[in-house]
Amino acid sequence: TADRLFNFAAGPATLPESVLLKAQSELYNWRGSGMSVMEMSHRGKEFLSIIQKAESDLRTLLNIPSDYSVLFLQGGATTQFAAIPLNICKPDDVVDFVVTGSWCDKAFKEANKYCKPKSIWSGKSEKYTKIPSFDLLEQTPGARYLHICANETIHGVEFKDYPTPINENEVLVADMSSNFCSKPVDVSRFGVIYAGAQKNVGPSGVTIVIIKSDLIGNAQPITPVMLDYKIHADNNSLYNTPPCYGIYMCGLVFEDLIAQGGLSEVEKKNIKKAGILYNAIDESKGFYRCPVEKNVRSLMNVPFTLAKSELEAEFIKEAAKEKMVQLKGHRSVGGMRASIYNAMPLAGVEKLVAFMKDFQAKHD
Ligand code: PMP
Repeated sequence: TADRLFNFAAGPATLPESVLLKAQSELYNWRGSGMSVMEMSHRGKEFLSIIQKAESDLRTLLNIPSDYSVLFLQGGATTQFAAIPLNICKPDDVVDFVVTGSWCDKAFKEANKYCKPKSIWSGKSEKYTKIPSFDLLEQTPGARYLHICANETIHGVEFKDYPTPINENEVLVADMSSNFCSKPVDVSRFGVIYAGAQKNVGPSGVTIVIIKSDLIGNAQPITPVMLDYKIHADNNSLYNTPPCYGIYMCGLVFEDLIAQGGLSEVEKKNIKKAGILYNAIDESKGFYRCPVEKNVRSLMNVPFTLAKSELEAEFIKEAAKEKMVQLKGHRSVGGMRASIYNAMPLAGVEKLVAFMKDFQAKHD
């Protein structure tokens, strides 16, 4: 509607308008229950129906095999940086990290407290603009898991395929916070997929973990109860009070993604949106520039700079006047970043591209 902005924030991020309107219509009195979802007991039949439907719709969307558990947790993806090594490693286990950006680097540093992580590749010296070719990775014999960040939100690099761990019993672990449910994923290739909800599937406060069930139940003895996957799996994510309203919102987003035809349809839209934005950058004759290597550019987070960097503040200010906000790049890298998650409409990207062309015409 006219009074909403196009919000290019990296997360919390824009949500589908239809989902917000549905939540609004159900806010005061959820489906005749006489109360809002915020006020319900998490053990009542109404909320149980909400969390069960959310899980089953997510299973449908990602085609999650039955030997995987789905957990709705709290603490953000950052908490999983600790929970994963605590749950699936002994303190002396070696694990491999492919450090493609700042998020994977954070996960690597946190894991250092609970196991023996090894950075087997880092893109830092090239300012995190690449993903290595998988045959160049020197994976560690005996490693317990191989960790990747499937989409680096700050740097805009995205894995288009996934490496395979070399060791028997080793699993692939992926932080999918910023490209969760943006395209189909073969879940069976992963031991653990985790994601904060606040980019593609809901509000902040919900963290989703999809884990192969046989990895559950071996947590290190020091593991806090709230980080122990077995506790949450045995209790269907209801060991303590879960983030009820956030789970409800995720459920509405999952319904919406199914109604759009599922993740292959969603991916087509995302490819189209990202395509027109990257084209606009690449065809600007150097006025705009995206530093990321072409074949690993993210469909979700598009970082770019202006050759005349002194114009960046004006770019952001002028875009905001035209109702396009949150285009400033992350404070650690500068420049601009347009996050164009599932819920960013094509019209938003088209408007941004038209604005970029106008801005260039004025300042070139
Ligand atoms: N991983 C990635 C890829 C992210 O983008 C973020 C948040 N921007 C995080 C982890 C941290 O997530 P949270 O704030 O939910 O802890």
